[in-house]
Amino acid sequence: MLLQDKVAVITGAASARGLGFATAKMFASQGAKVVIIDLDAGASKAAASQLGSDHLGLAANVANEQQVNAAIEQVLAKYGRIDVLVNNAGITQPIKLMDIKRDNYDAVLDVSLRGTLLMSQAVIPTMRRQRAGSIICISSVSAQRGGGIFGGPHYSAAKAGVLGLMKAMARELGPDNVRVNAITPGLIQTDITAGKLSDEMRQSILAGIPLNRLGDASDIAGAALFLASPLSAYSTGITLDVNGGMLI
Ligand code: NAD
Repeated sequence: MLLQDKVAVITGAASARGLGFATAKMFASQGAKVVIIDLDAGASKAAASQLGSDHLGLAANVANEQQVNAAIEQVLAKYGRIDVLVNNAGITQPIKLMDIKRDNYDAVLDVSLRGTLLMSQAVIPTMRRQRAGSIICISSVSAQRGGGIFGGPHYSAAKAGVLGLMKAMARELGPDNVRVNAITPGLIQTDITAGKLSDEMRQSILAGIPLNRLGDASDIAGAALFLASPLSAYSTGITLDVNGGMLI
């Protein structure tokens, strides 16, 4: 078991078809105690209980410092340590450049970028004390190609910001043996993408994916397991592309 008795906190992991919950299932199957943090307490608890009795579901808005700190205090009260953080919570808005208003910008950057910063700040003192930890940031292929299929330009900017923050954190935390890495998913079938693809769109997207299929949430979970576990012990500051070859 790659994560036996490790404590892993995953944000935005209550959505049954989402990347976060798939990662939670993968980590639990490898022996981790998983903490699901999402907006709704009932949904987080229900998701955690689906994994078994050792796991915890908590409510927090990752962009709210007080809620984030209160959630991490509860994690430490229950388990006493935090080995892995997956910054997965994110929202997307399929709008064009000139339609971006302050509220759009604030909402998207708050969840992806401020959320990643606040959650990381909340766990770093513990990881430093342990002299061990792995932080995984979920960015997007949209950050790399300046746009995806659904996210607007502010989403690309937020996810590119996540990559910059990830590298800066990796540099600063390396001496403490805290590793920080990112995953850039391509187009994965989840609630974010469900029902939004016409047959025509699907065909034109597939034409640009050498592996000729959309991604599955388990594809991201596998990459997250690698980055969370000792298999990646000498990797920090890296970006793992999981996109079926979209950027070749
Ligand atoms: P999803 O909508 O299924 O899940 C996102 C989860 O985040 C939801 O459970 C939601 O409640 C939660 N959330 C939203 N705002 C939050 C907040 N402020 N605080 C706490 N939780 C919050 O989406 P998904 O497809 O599983 O996406 C997961 C991550 O992967 C996101 O960061 C997304 O941008 C990224 N991503 C997804 C794809 C894709 O194709 N699905 C591609 C690239 C990147």
